[in-house]
Amino acid sequence: MYRPYLIAPPPGCRFHPRCDFCFDKCRVELPDLKEVKPSHFVACHLYSDSF
Ligand code: SF4
Repeated sequence: MYRPYLIAPPPGCRFHPRCDFCFDKCRVELPDLKEVKPSHFVACHLYSDSF
């Protein structure tokens, strides 16, 4: 089982080594944090405002 090393997190999305939906962009680019509702945030390249 993959265990993140918290003082040296992986590049890109911090979840990419353990995410079933990971694709190339996730390995190199940190997703922006977006507020989707008051006090509710998402940071994922798969998130779209059109959901
Ligand atoms: S950005 Fe989204 S899809 Fe990509 S690794 Fe992170 S959580 Fe998974």
